[in-house]
Amino acid sequence: MLKKEFKRKDVDRARNLLTGKSGASSETQVGYKKKRVDYKGGDVWVENKKTWTIKDGIKQTISKMDAIKKEIFMPLCCPKCSKVMKKHLDKPNYKVHKMCFDCVIDFEAKLKIEGKYDNYIKNLRLKNSLTEIDEIENFFLDLANQSNEGFVSEKGEVERWVGGLGKDKITQEITNATKIARKNIQKELTNEED
Ligand SMILES: [Zn+2]
Repeated sequence: MLKKEFKRKDVDRARNLLTGKSGASSETQVGYKKKRVDYKGGDVWVENKKTWTIKDGIKQTISKMDAIKKEIFMPLCCPKCSKVMKKHLDKPNYKVHKMCFDCVIDFEAKLKIEGKYDNYIKNLRLKNSLTEIDEIENFFLDLANQSNEGFVSEKGEVERWVGGLGKDKITQEITNATKIARKNIQKELTNEED
């Protein structure tokens, strides 16, 4: 029961947050009929707990979450100098720079000499923002899609959010919002690297 309430509130909040609308209502449907949806290229949706898209006419999974997981995984040795990464500063530095702390010090010293350090730091921050957007997008896509599968009431009725703002609409809002945010960051990145 508690879980249901929590989920409904979450869906409500996420939807209002994304659409800027409040006071949207829910409807109760007796009997749950799965809606047939036709997807086209560029669409993003969640099915069987995987995020899918259609690219070049082929349905395929989006492996953004896999990329994020890989990002956090740290090998035993530094890929640059092959020394074992065991210092406490190795881990946070590897996460950002993909090398050990000593290598980061050397690398940044070189950049400072070449006068490229400030640009490098700025680009690093922009790239981190891109990763954050991926995480936020995945979080909302999961929330919007899983929670709209329906809530079984005490009477055995399946309640779903229905109306103009369905799952597809929310999914589209999320992908559009993140696309714009990503585009802006990428634009800044390109300007810096010119
Ligand atoms: Zn190293």
